[in-house]
Amino acid sequence: MKSIWKWYKEKSFILKITTGFVLGAILGLIIGPLAQILSPFGDIFLQLLKMIVIPLILFTLISAVNSTNPKRMGRVGGKIFSYYLLTTAIAMFIGIMIGSIFNPGEGLEFSEQKMDVPEAPSFIDTILAIIPTNFFHSLANGDILSIVFVAVIVGFVITSMRHAEEFKINDYGNTLLKLMDAGSEVTFRILDGILLYAPIGVFAIAASKIGNQGFDVLSSLASYVGASYVGVGIQFVLVYMLLLFLFKVPIAKFFRNIREAIITAFATSSSLGTLPVTMKSADKAGIKNDVSKFTLPIGATINMDGSAIHYGVGAIFAANVVGYDLSFGAILGIVLVGTLASVGTAGVPGAGLIGLSIVLTQVGLPIEIVGLTAGVNVLTDMIFTTCNVTGDLTGAAVVSKSEDKYETQVGSEFG
Ligand code: ASP
Repeated sequence: MKSIWKWYKEKSFILKITTGFVLGAILGLIIGPLAQILSPFGDIFLQLLKMIVIPLILFTLISAVNSTNPKRMGRVGGKIFSYYLLTTAIAMFIGIMIGSIFNPGEGLEFSEQKMDVPEAPSFIDTILAIIPTNFFHSLANGDILSIVFVAVIVGFVITSMRHAEEFKINDYGNTLLKLMDAGSEVTFRILDGILLYAPIGVFAIAASKIGNQGFDVLSSLASYVGASYVGVGIQFVLVYMLLLFLFKVPIAKFFRNIREAIITAFATSSSLGTLPVTMKSADKAGIKNDVSKFTLPIGATINMDGSAIHYGVGAIFAANVVGYDLSFGAILGIVLVGTLASVGTAGVPGAGLIGLSIVLTQVGLPIEIVGLTAGVNVLTDMIFTTCNVTGDLTGAAVVSKSEDKYETQVGSEFG
């Protein structure tokens, strides 16, 4: 027994998780909806990951901020937000373009069933919500952006305390930093434990998802699913690989280092749930600590390139189903609304369906069509989430690389 455990522990993570996924998918295909009984084992994995997301962000970000300075944080913030906006808008265009080529939805009929469209929060409300009125509420609620906001402030205050003249304040600052470092060590150790369970969790998720997937709907929606996968493929090559190349990040090595995050995202369909693994992969890929700890939680919350491709392909699909010719203006409207909707998309399984219904409503297409694509959402959500996570990591990598030239100045403002 002991030697099996030792063998299991020592096998490479990527091998174990891929095997878990493939075996789960095969089992799901064989036993169909019966595989649903395994889903609690998958839920255990996702819940364990979510359990450590908040402490992980809090501890690692506060301690990472201590190795940087406000000027650098501002610069990194500016760069990463420009990256998010640009790559998401391109993803929307790719979605629309690939949708127009594959033309999914032509000849399909849809039944008029009533659906509720959630209200999209206004831009100002979204920004205001970042400043928490009660930080403990944000922690309990898992409001990532508010947590990042407070963690950065606390991180800088601790840094300034560590550089204070007065011994007592200085001592407090150092003690707090040690505490944060220790907290982040604890969460990473817990993560290592959770990842031992990952292959089993992923096995269960794959089995229950694939088992539940009605493949009869697949034939009528094959071009929709195909367009989604090809769209993400184009985003990988034309956007991520190109950017990595331009910023001189070795592409093959980068993808090898982040493959654990990629497979976890694909298997779980949750970029938020994948976040602990994403952070670990960023360390492996050599992304600067302060850049990854600051940008990845934000990315997992607002940067959703895969979801944007979803909205592009989905809008074309909807237009085809109702036989609606999209004008150039309507396409621009879709890009704009889709980019904003992707920012508001939560990093959890199936969130894109809500986002798509917002986009369709805004551009005057019937949202009932979302119900049609929902049948294959399990398959498309996997690839969109993979794209969401890869987009976050690519952004962190290129911004980190672009910071090389400032390296000697880090910490100089306080030190
Ligand atoms: N499932 C996606 C994610 O977690 C969001 C979406 O459904 O578009 O990133």
